[in-house]
Amino acid sequence: MENLAERIISGGRLDREDGRKLLEMDLEELCRVADEIRRAFCGDKGELCTIVNGRSGRCSEDCKFCAQSCHYHTGAEEYPFLSVPEIVEEGKRNEAAGIRRYSIVTAGRGIHGPDLEHALEAYRRLRAETGLALCASHGLQTQEEFRQMKEAGATRFHANLETSRRYFPYICTTHTYDDKIENIRRAKAAGLEICSGGILGMGETWEDRVDMALDLSELGVVSIPLNLLTPIPGTPLEGLPPLTEEEVLRSVAMFRCFNPTAWIRMAAGRGRFADGGRKLFQSGANAAITGDMLTTTGTSIAGDRAMFAGLGYQI
Ligand code: SF4
Repeated sequence: MENLAERIISGGRLDREDGRKLLEMDLEELCRVADEIRRAFCGDKGELCTIVNGRSGRCSEDCKFCAQSCHYHTGAEEYPFLSVPEIVEEGKRNEAAGIRRYSIVTAGRGIHGPDLEHALEAYRRLRAETGLALCASHGLQTQEEFRQMKEAGATRFHANLETSRRYFPYICTTHTYDDKIENIRRAKAAGLEICSGGILGMGETWEDRVDMALDLSELGVVSIPLNLLTPIPGTPLEGLPPLTEEEVLRSVAMFRCFNPTAWIRMAAGRGRFADGGRKLFQSGANAAITGDMLTTTGTSIAGDRAMFAGLGYQI
């Protein structure tokens, strides 16, 4: 393990075989080493971001974990695009609570035409009226649309791989893993940073998790949101058992080992741990989605700010 840590800290990168070894290592030791790697590459910097669910429900896609897919009957809230003032006010409210990075998220395969114009206007207003760093999460877009988002003020695009290439067809059939990879490449080509991760606990194997970590490393993403599946009644994954805390810790530490410089960002699901997932931020994670918009986080901005400060992070 020490050799592996030294290799990573001196600039080496892991391969699939190394990933298999990580899975067999003592968990406490793996978490300690992941924390050491995080300190070596990222220091004490921590990041909290929030999202606004700009448009909810009626999505044409069939992602099996998602409450917003029109393929399942989940009772999730449905509404068209929030008005620009509503999105801007929510951003200001978050900024006043100490948040510095904010993302507009829309359900659906992509946004085009008037919906894209609406989002661009929101980015322009947020850039003019707040000091927030802006992220965009709108599905599959053209390179020209990405360029327009960047021009309007977005600096980072969020597009999860969700799982491994092998397992993806079991999770979604209306678009492909390659659609996602090509989308990320177009966003990068337009000059946007990439935030991309996935959901743990959808029935994937440990090898799938290693493969996803490796693909994210090869894509050079700067931020990796890791969600823990919260099974939603009405979706095909409603009956899956939750991952144990040990499985989550091992996964997070493994993602850090493969992606030493990235923000490893805890997203949905950590609220089920009694302490808000404190141990995750001593095991490789150094960022989180917070606030009350992602209904499955179960956390608060004030609580997360206090936890990060208590762990010695500079937000
Ligand atoms: S594309 Fe997004 S909103 Fe639509 S079903 Fe998949 S995860 Fe849900």
